[in-house]
Amino acid sequence: KTEGRSRYCFFTPDMDRDVRSREKSYRDLRLALADCDRQLMLYYQPIHDLNDGRMVGVEALLRWWHPERGLMGPAGFIRSAEESGLIEVLGEWVLRQAVRDARQWPDLRVAVNVSPTQLRSRQFVDMVRQVLSEAGLAPQRLELEMTETALMAASGEVARALSELRRMGIACALDDFGTGYSSLSHIRDFAVDRIKIDRSFVNVVDTDAGAALVEAIVSLARANGLCLTAEGVEAQEQHEFLRRVGCHEVQGYLLSPPVPASQISRMLQGRETHAHQQSL
Ligand code: C2E
Ligand code: MG
Ligand code: MG
Ligand code: MG
Repeated sequence: KTEGRSRYCFFTPDMDRDVRSREKSYRDLRLALADCDRQLMLYYQPIHDLNDGRMVGVEALLRWWHPERGLMGPAGFIRSAEESGLIEVLGEWVLRQAVRDARQWPDLRVAVNVSPTQLRSRQFVDMVRQVLSEAGLAPQRLELEMTETALMAASGEVARALSELRRMGIACALDDFGTGYSSLSHIRDFAVDRIKIDRSFVNVVDTDAGAALVEAIVSLARANGLCLTAEGVEAQEQHEFLRRVGCHEVQGYLLSPPVPASQISRMLQGRETHAHQQSL
């Protein structure tokens, strides 16, 4: 009524503002996809083997240079990509870019995050197959990371997609392990090749309870033939602990933050130069 006699208003002004800001974020995201070369970029975070210390893989992490808001991390837009349905186009862009970048690092595995919506899509497996064959990248070089939520919704279709991907030679990793609903005993039920231990667990290995929990995760996963990567490793003591209990790989600020592709190439070059000097 405050808006004048002849206007109907089903929403409160707050709700109206929410709807409009949501619509703007969808519109911005659509524009970003149309202008992807300038607005979207993948950063890569190194993943290191705990035994020999070598970089064995990288995880692709999406960044958005928003024309008004500046650099945005996925926390600021993945949800709205999901809600708007744009996640499928966005996810395909990410995969294509990551696979293309991976060709310049023949010794590395490249891990790409996949959202639950993508995994449920009927076209997903074919899209992945096509992107790999277009780029000429061996499926063994690719790993797809998915959360427990995505896998719990493992209707027949998701399960089928998963086994088809793995049959192609693509590895599947359970991301953020421990943040979902399932208990430890579910580890053997997930049809994946790797468990990524969430950083909230890595954070507490300096407590008795935290250390015991991580040790239990590691031994159960190993007993089921799974590989393990710990995420969010920030301290030398955490690194040491993870190595001691038999975790296979680590990722985190202690080793490197996510960096542009060119920097990964420089890191690998540095390693070669170093190895060459040692052999002289
Ligand atoms: P994630 O897959 O679990 O990725 C790890 C996140 O932890 C990244 O945040 C990374 O920058 C951050 N991180 C790495 N090492 C450390 C550390 O030592 N300490 C701390 N505090 N954080 C660390 P980022 O890049 O902001 O990504 C957040 C999440 O967004 C990812 O979590 C992933 O779930 C999602 N995401 C990122 N890229 C994509 C994408 O291309 N597609 C989809 N669907 N999701 C994505
Ligand atoms: Mg991930
Ligand atoms: Mg994670
Ligand atoms: Mg995470």
